[in-house]
Amino acid sequence: MNLTINKSPENPIENTIVNKIEHSKQIISDAVKEYGDKIEVACSFGKDSMVVVHLALQIKPDIRIFSVMTPFKPKETFEYKDKMIQHYNLNLVEYMSKELVDPDLPKTDPNECCRILKVEPTKEAVKGLQAWICGLRNTEGRTRKDYKEIEEKGGLIKVNPILNWTELDIWRYMAINSIPVHPFYARGYRSLGCEPCTTLISDDALEREGRWIGTSKCGGECGIHTQSLK
Ligand code: SF4
Repeated sequence: MNLTINKSPENPIENTIVNKIEHSKQIISDAVKEYGDKIEVACSFGKDSMVVVHLALQIKPDIRIFSVMTPFKPKETFEYKDKMIQHYNLNLVEYMSKELVDPDLPKTDPNECCRILKVEPTKEAVKGLQAWICGLRNTEGRTRKDYKEIEEKGGLIKVNPILNWTELDIWRYMAINSIPVHPFYARGYRSLGCEPCTTLISDDALEREGRWIGTSKCGGECGIHTQSLK
């Protein structure tokens, strides 16, 4: 049987997962060449982070990775993190705020809670870096439409190598590469964060709409992508 490939302006063959992978790897490779040991990968242990980490390991197997954890992350995220560190022999440093936070703060003042538990530890993590690599994607939610693959804020470069990947691309890449999956995805979650601020949502919704439901932050950002980290 002969296969024919339908190449037309409506069906551009350039827009394939293979080309997206090559493009993302090129971005990471260029960034690593430019910034050497002054660049690290941020990893939350969600699906997008795992794809970026997997891509970056192919460019630099000992690339430095940082992870900001909070006491409100589900125990499954801590277990998955430990499993992935071992599975991929990750060169990872973990950051977690030592500040004691009121258990109600995620509901009463999520901005302050994110500032203490996410933004400040991320500032600590990027101290001394010139650049960081993230798994941010522009189809994830209402607040992620205007990012660029390379950004600069306060003198710190942020590299978003999978910015143009879809949710489907992520799952295809995870499957093709047999990347172990965080158990919460099997329960129907599509975007993972801290337990009090992560809710199951319909498959029709944007991925991040289940974050901070019931607060003014619903579907929004913790602050690490919107604030200057320097
Ligand atoms: S996501 Fe929720 S629990 Fe986690 S730091 Fe932000 S407000 Fe606090």
